Amino acid sequence: MIKHFLFLSYLVATFFFIFGLKFMSHPRTAARGNRIGIIGAALAVLATLFFYDGGFGIAHQWYWLIIGLALGAWIGYHMAMRVEMTQMPEMVSVFNGFGGASAMLISIASYLQVTLPQEHDVAQFLEQLKVLLQKQTGNLEGYMLLTLSNLFVGATAFTGSMVAYGKLSGKLRKDWVSKYQQIINVALLAGYIVYMFVLVYGSDQWGVWHILPLTLIGLYYGISFVMPIGGGDMPVAISLLNAFTGVTTMLTGFLYDNWAMITGGILVGSSGTILTVLMCQAMNRSLWNVITGALVAAKGKTIEGSVKTIDPSDAAILLAYANRVIIVPGYGMARAQAQHRIHELEKQLRERGVEVYYAIHPVAGRMPGHMNVLLAEADVPYELLIEMEQANELMPQTDVAVVIGANDVVNPSAKEDPSSPIYGMPIIEVDKAKQVIVIKRGMGKGYAGIENPLFYKENTRMLFNDAKKAVESILNELKNL
Ligand code: NDP
Repeated sequence: MIKHFLFLSYLVATFFFIFGLKFMSHPRTAARGNRIGIIGAALAVLATLFFYDGGFGIAHQWYWLIIGLALGAWIGYHMAMRVEMTQMPEMVSVFNGFGGASAMLISIASYLQVTLPQEHDVAQFLEQLKVLLQKQTGNLEGYMLLTLSNLFVGATAFTGSMVAYGKLSGKLRKDWVSKYQQIINVALLAGYIVYMFVLVYGSDQWGVWHILPLTLIGLYYGISFVMPIGGGDMPVAISLLNAFTGVTTMLTGFLYDNWAMITGGILVGSSGTILTVLMCQAMNRSLWNVITGALVAAKGKTIEGSVKTIDPSDAAILLAYANRVIIVPGYGMARAQAQHRIHELEKQLRERGVEVYYAIHPVAGRMPGHMNVLLAEADVPYELLIEMEQANELMPQTDVAVVIGANDVVNPSAKEDPSSPIYGMPIIEVDKAKQVIVIKRGMGKGYAGIENPLFYKENTRMLFNDAKKAVESILNELKNL
């Protein structure tokens, strides 16, 4: 009877997850989607506590669960409350890494559960375990394959996400550049798979110690595949790591016969994979190259020349008398929290009869959908947001392109310089507009750490200031026109 309650709760939780994801696909309903997802997760946790394997008493050491839940909730709450909006992508990476770490630890525990009694010849315990496992996965070998696959994906997601955190927060700047990187990574991946199969099917005695090299290979692989990723390719790696964590959740669900984890993991794994594929297409990269760490950082050319500046009053004149203006936001808009003032500028220009659009590059900012979220928060009408392809079509008939805190996503080196680390990545071609105004604080580089020839082009004018302050001064000047 109680088993039915458990199954029903997991089913309801799954519906919550699906609806949560559905709502998350639009910026306006994303917060609601998040809340629905939270309810689903809470339901699954409570159902496990109360109904799993016969009821609350089961988990004979239930107090460990309560301590873990309370500690995790407390740490998570304080981290989330303290984090600045601009540090959100780093925090998401850390949380993703924690998911991978827990999957790794569960796999280690599962391996030890099988191998420790085997070594100490606790035959009766092993028999009991075998009965349990056969119920869940059919056979012990299958269970071990699941455990070791989970170990690898979990360990990789853990260290990979921690390296991603280091890179996003600017604590880790160095990109490993080894021409053998791809070979090393393919060897690690293939080595692990061979080791796993030989271990599981090659002997009856699975030595406890094997868990150590296997864990180390998984941990090292995560570092080795994310560390060399340079230029603007990090978003692809991040969404792939996210998909990995979904896969580990699903595998753990199989290990423990937990349907909420299986369905939740499938949802995260598949949506993460779809996002990764879309990111790869957007960045013109192949998924195989991402997994094997072939996206090694390059250097790019240095640029000589001088830049021309513009003051807020001339910028206001250019904008006020334009027919069409395209605003290209980037990471600097998030840093300056300039979205509300930009919306104000767009409203005033539209009142004057100027046609205004926001061009959104798929990897602008530091997380997928970063710009969409910020602009939705400022109540920018969704119809004004256009994608890169459409923006590029409109660009030659655009009077002014205003780049606000964006750099890599408008860098023409991606098309012109084969030695550039972002070569091949599609960009928003603002240089095709009649005039370009670039708002940023100075000549600081973007995430890829490379020069941008856009700033030196004939039709580009730089407005050096914090994005929010610069837009405020343009707004002030507009009043006098
Ligand atoms: P970039 O990181 O290329 O450039 C941001 C620019 O903003 C900097 O050059 C900086 O110049 C300027 N800036 C910083 N603070 C301010 C401020 N307060 N006011 C005005 N300007 C400011 O941003 P993009 O959005 O163009 O590109 C995103 C990059 O991040 C890509 O390389 C992408 O691959 C990468 N990335 C994206 C992820 C995603 O999922 N979207 C995840 C991980 C990486 P200055 O210092 O001179 O002001």
